[in-house]
Amino acid sequence: MPLEFLRRKSAKPAPAPSVVAAPPPRSYGRTAPLPEEAVAQEHQLRLSYAGKTSEGVRLKGGPEAMAALPDMLGDLAKSPVEVVEPRDPELGHAAPAIARAGEASQWLQAHGNASPITRHALYLLESMDAIDPAFDTFVCALLDGDLDLAGYPEYAAIVGGVAAHWDESTGDLIVRGLVGWGGRGTRGDTDRTANRILTAILQNILDSSDSLGVTPLDHPALGGGSAGVTCSHCGFTVARGRAVFCPKCGMRLLHG
Ligand SMILES: [Zn+2]
Repeated sequence: MPLEFLRRKSAKPAPAPSVVAAPPPRSYGRTAPLPEEAVAQEHQLRLSYAGKTSEGVRLKGGPEAMAALPDMLGDLAKSPVEVVEPRDPELGHAAPAIARAGEASQWLQAHGNASPITRHALYLLESMDAIDPAFDTFVCALLDGDLDLAGYPEYAAIVGGVAAHWDESTGDLIVRGLVGWGGRGTRGDTDRTANRILTAILQNILDSSDSLGVTPLDHPALGGGSAGVTCSHCGFTVARGRAVFCPKCGMRLLHG
């Protein structure tokens, strides 16, 4: 196919004759009209994620409180329950964003060995800021719905469980329920099912023998660099101030 029609129409200043001789005008057998605009083929992907978190419940501190977390899912879990420890501070830039290769690589380093259910749950809860794996311990399972053939939750499947961190000033464990779902689609009854499951999780947390009742959620103030106190046990850095206990590992902080 002749390409002459691509030739620029706008006249450029004529080059000096000594450099290039302008080609003689040519006549075309047929000319394709230039289109007014491109005939576009549309591409679009709509993803929809949703999640819910409950109030926090204060549990008496101590390692047994943390060890009891998986039992709080009880028979709500439709898959094996997985416990995700807070991330290593050396993976502090981890983010589930594949286009940001460095962050994605750290994220996979931290969570690549988790089950597809847990990775899906972390991906959507972390993307929605419903969880902060820097200090939250996350106890996760499939709670409703189906998996695809590769073992990943379908869009209408509900995943989640409980997340916990240590209270900076008292060393108590603060536990909340959280659920998430979504992807390439939505279903009308998922929200209602999620509410029912979240209520059941909160009830299980409150029924725990260590429960001291519902408490306002007070996320730790994260401090960076020299301004914060770094936990000598786990390396987590919190803002200087009222923090006495490390929100990540629950050990007493040594203020210098
Ligand atoms: Zn610590």
